[in-house]
Amino acid sequence: MHRVVLIPGDGIGPEVAAATRTVIDATGVPLVWDERTAGASAFETHGALLPAETLDAIRDARVAIKGPITTPVGEGFRSVNVALRQELDLFAAVRPARTLPGVRTRHQGVDLVVVRENTEDLYRGIEFAVGSSEAAALRAELRDLGGFEVPEDAGITLKPISVSGARRIVRFAFEYARANHRRKVTVGHKANVMRYSDGIFLRAAQDDAGEYPDIPWEDIHIDHLSAQLVRRPQDFDVLLLPNLYGDILSDLCAGLVGGLGLIPGANIGWAYAVFEPVHGSAPDIAGRGVANPIAMVLSGAMMLRHLGELDAAAVVEDVVDRVLERGDVRTGDLGGNATTSEMAAAIATEVASTDQ
Ligand code: NAD
Repeated sequence: MHRVVLIPGDGIGPEVAAATRTVIDATGVPLVWDERTAGASAFETHGALLPAETLDAIRDARVAIKGPITTPVGEGFRSVNVALRQELDLFAAVRPARTLPGVRTRHQGVDLVVVRENTEDLYRGIEFAVGSSEAAALRAELRDLGGFEVPEDAGITLKPISVSGARRIVRFAFEYARANHRRKVTVGHKANVMRYSDGIFLRAAQDDAGEYPDIPWEDIHIDHLSAQLVRRPQDFDVLLLPNLYGDILSDLCAGLVGGLGLIPGANIGWAYAVFEPVHGSAPDIAGRGVANPIAMVLSGAMMLRHLGELDAAAVVEDVVDRVLERGDVRTGDLGGNATTSEMAAAIATEVASTDQ
């Protein structure tokens, strides 16, 4: 019996979380859901965006699946997602984006996996507000240290990338490529400009890739990679990226294969794993029951694989492909008019009737 923490989240989160639960339950895998709260809903009930008891429950179960969470913009709130990844040291985000049958897109035959460093870089949360005494002290220090002049009206966000942080994500990506029979790893960076942060990321790849002679790899500037991806995404396979570039390019990859409603994700550390769709809480369509549940359902399939339920994971993925290919049940983002629960029911019914 597996125990899994389920965090429905905000906006469309509870809708796609309920859909995912229906589909995963239909696999027949013995699984107990421990439902916990985080995000705006948690703030109302617990007075905290990320209640300690939710973190404790994940530490206890070791595995969680979550819906998206709304982070209030610029009001002194730390992003719950960033906090969760740092608290649990979920240093690797894995986001597969592949061409799905029946989904019309510009490119065919796309099969990409973004492996994003999840804890460092500009998302480390080291920030100084414009006009604050801390920003003033830092400006003075920078002037003393190297004659750097930072404008008085600047806010400041720092970009730390460590040797240890870079090396563990490099090794993770190459191990992932090997275990999943991927054909190539591409490292995206801007080490010519950010020599002491991106430079460390690139050097970690140069130092450690030699231990994986079976996995070809290359490095490419992130701006050039972006242009190449939209022109010939089939040329790439595993994309190994620092935090910010990984965030941006995983949305780009989602766009390449039909949109945010389709892309699953996993946040993985040595001790814990939290699965979640790449999309956000979509306030524009929340509460209407029209969100596409597939991104979170496929995140559920990744979770099943992590739990060792390989057959059930494959069944869910195959059925999603078949339902998309038939095209008779589709949500609005895919050009149809099915509701979230109709899509979930179509997938769950077929999953339940598939032999495993
Ligand atoms: P978003 O992903 O919520 O929405 C972008 C667009 O994609 C919207 O038009 C939305 O309707 C559409 N969309 C997203 N998911 C969909 C789905 N499953 N089905 C159909 N359409 C879908 O991005 P945003 O608007 O930039 O962010 C909204 C909120 O979500 C913000 O508060 C942001 O902080 C949060 N967010 C959370 C996470 C997370 O919890 N992991 C990730 C990204 C954004």
